Parts: sequence; C-alpha cells; structure tokens
Amino acid sequence: MRKTQIHKFGGASVKDALGVQNIADILRNRLRNNFAIVVSAMGKSTNQLENILSLKLDNKDYSKNSTILKDFHLSVCKELFPADHVIFPKIENYFIQLHHELNKPLTKDNYDEYYDRIVGFGELLSSRIVMEYLCMQNLLVLWQDARELIATDSDFRFAKIDWAKSRQNCQSQLKPKLEQFPVLTQGFLGADLNGRPTTLGREGSDFTAAILASCLDAGSVTIWKDVPGVLNADPKLFSDTILFSELDYQQAAQMTFYGASVIHPKTIKPLANSGIPLFVKSFLNPDEEGTKIHSQAKSAPLPTIILKKEQILVSLKVTDFTFIEESHIHQVYAQLQTLKLRVNMLQTSAISISIVIDSQLFKLEQLLRSLSQEFDVRYNEGLELLTVLHPDMDSLPEYLEDYELLLEQQTRNTIQVVRRAK
Ligand code: ASP
Ligand code: MG
Repeated sequence: MRKTQIHKFGGASVKDALGVQNIADILRNRLRNNFAIVVSAMGKSTNQLENILSLKLDNKDYSKNSTILKDFHLSVCKELFPADHVIFPKIENYFIQLHHELNKPLTKDNYDEYYDRIVGFGELLSSRIVMEYLCMQNLLVLWQDARELIATDSDFRFAKIDWAKSRQNCQSQLKPKLEQFPVLTQGFLGADLNGRPTTLGREGSDFTAAILASCLDAGSVTIWKDVPGVLNADPKLFSDTILFSELDYQQAAQMTFYGASVIHPKTIKPLANSGIPLFVKSFLNPDEEGTKIHSQAKSAPLPTIILKKEQILVSLKVTDFTFIEESHIHQVYAQLQTLKLRVNMLQTSAISISIVIDSQLFKLEQLLRSLSQEFDVRYNEGLELLTVLHPDMDSLPEYLEDYELLLEQQTRNTIQVVRRAK
C-alpha cells in the first residue's frame, strides 16, 4: 500500500478564486487515495477575525468588519460556483454560527477560550469552499473536521498536542477514509478532551500537516508556498536570495527558531522524529523542485538572514545595588513562562538583564507589572531582531546601515542585532 502524502495549502494560496482554481490544477494529476489536504484560512481572514474580537472586547461595533469578511468569502464563491450551489447557504450558515458565538460575553478573562471558538471559522469556511470546488471539478475529496482528529490540552490559543489520542483518532477515523478517498481538513484547529475548540498558535497549519503525517506514518509532507522553497532570506525583504535545494532537519529547525516564517517552528520535530521528508514548493510553479528537508541533506552553509519584526526589548535593572545573579534570571524566566512568552534574545550585565520578546496583546503590561517590584523596568517597542547565520562579514554592514543598534550578540556561527530604523 502506498504511504499517505500530506499537502498543505496556506492562506496565500487560497486568497482568491484564482488561488482555489490553482489548487485544483495542482491536484488534478497528483490526487489519489491516501492523500490528505490541509488548508488555512483564506488570505488575511484570521487577522480579520482577530480584529472583530478586539472590537468586541472594547465594546465597539464589529458588524461592518464581519460583513466585509462575509462579502469577501461570498465574492470568491461567486467567481467559482453557479448561483444555486450549496456553498452559498453553507457560508450563510457559518456566519449565523459566528454571530451566535459573538453574542456571548467576552472579557479579558475568557479571551483565550473565546478566541479559539471564533478564529477557527476562517479555516472552516476555506476548507468548505476548497472541498466543494474540488468536487465540482470532479476531484472527489471528503471533508473532515480537524477537531475530531487533533486532540489537545486546554491551553487555549497555544494548545499542546495529545499525541497518543491524536494518533488514535487518525488511525481509527482518518485512515479508513483515506484508503478510499483523498481527505481535506483544516490546519490550525484542534479540540480539548471536553470537545472545546482549541488552536495551535498563529500560522499553525504547517504543524497540523506534520501532526497528521506523524500520526499516519505518512510518506511525505508538501507545503505549498508563494516562494520557490526555503531561501537564505525572505525575498519580500531582501534581494538576491538563494534557494536551498535541500536542508537537513536541524538546519531547517534552527532557521525557524530564529524566526524564518517559511515554515512554522513546530513542524520539523515530528517529521524528523519519524524521518518523514518535508517538501517546500511553489504553488505558482508547481513543477519546480523546491526544497527537500530530510536527514541526509548535503548543503554547504550559506549566509542566512532572518528578520523578526514587532520585537520588544525589555531591560530590567536591579535597584538595590546587588549584582545580577541566578535567582534574578530564574525570576524573570518564571514570569515569562507564566505568560507563555518566549525569549528571542537574552543578555545580562552586572546590574541588568535584557530580553527581547515578541509583541503580544496584554502580555507586556502583565510582564511589567509582575517584575516592577524587583527591577527598574524599561522597554522599547517596534524593534526588529536580525539574525544572520554563517554571516559573510563583508556584506554584513549592509544590514546595519541606517539603523540604530540597541543590542548585539555574536557567536562563531551567528550574529544577532536588535535594530531600529534611524
Ligand atoms: N489561519 C491561521 C493563521 O493565519 C493558521 C495558518 O495560517 O497557518 O494564523
Ligand atoms: Mg495564515
């Protein structure tokens, strides 16, 4: 029996009607049984749902935003389907459900759980549209609710996978279907043990593909992107980028750790553990090779540039004329752990600790509040963290010109700077 292939299509690949048609073209000669398709929300729908939530939280009117979101999905469907197609009442129905959820009270305290009930509509809508379109094109696929497969804990917005249960679900529910037909499901979504919807963290659909691959002992995962594969820098930000034809799992994982957004950071580990190759390919040029990430890649180290935006530099100074000791660092890390904030860079001096974190709603004020008794706390927002792996010293100044540098760190293979445009 052929091993399952998993194919993941992200938001950019389904951002409009042409995108959905292109998926059908890509799948036309590839589709077979033992083939699972994972799709994200269309375009920026998840951001729009987040905006609706923040308006709701501030007791502001979100009806215009939800109408825009609905009209967007309906207009995509008008280009794809005849006017009497079943997709139209289905979309109406999802929006009725969405409004029903949004009529429930939202506070800062129930925000995370509420968020997971709302933002998942993006994936529910897109997966329905893509599935109906494929079927209309005689590419018969079954629709599967990912929340019946991906079992998680109740850590809303950042849910952790219950691997044993997810595997059991995939083997008992998904595998028998896959033996008959290709199956299409949503990325990003899961459910806790009480059946409450959860999400796996923003951009988590790649991770969904890897979870399904691991739970099904799949043969490969392919992530279809708007770039030719994994490049040594983001082509939207830097010119003269070079494509990696292959990478080993470790190199790829390291790049995602520093913030390369081409693959979600959690994607590599489950694939590496099971030796499942990951292909990153362009949905614009589907016949090109792209990048193969596997265990035996033989690529020479290339200077690789990774830029993380929306960074906050927090400086914590001891106030009582002592020096920084382990207990201070421990205290800071304990708070970061409680708030589920990851440190992107850390530096200590005799009297201060500097940390660089992602900008996240509510989190900064909570962090400042909890640490301000012990430390004199200062912060700078709106910064960029630039990481260069295997730097080429001659071209380095290019990335630093016109910027004010707030923090720098260098090891043998890595340079990191926190910068702000002058
Ligand atoms: N739609 C979700 C997001 O935008 C998940 C994903 O795209 O992978 O974060
Ligand atoms: Mg997305």
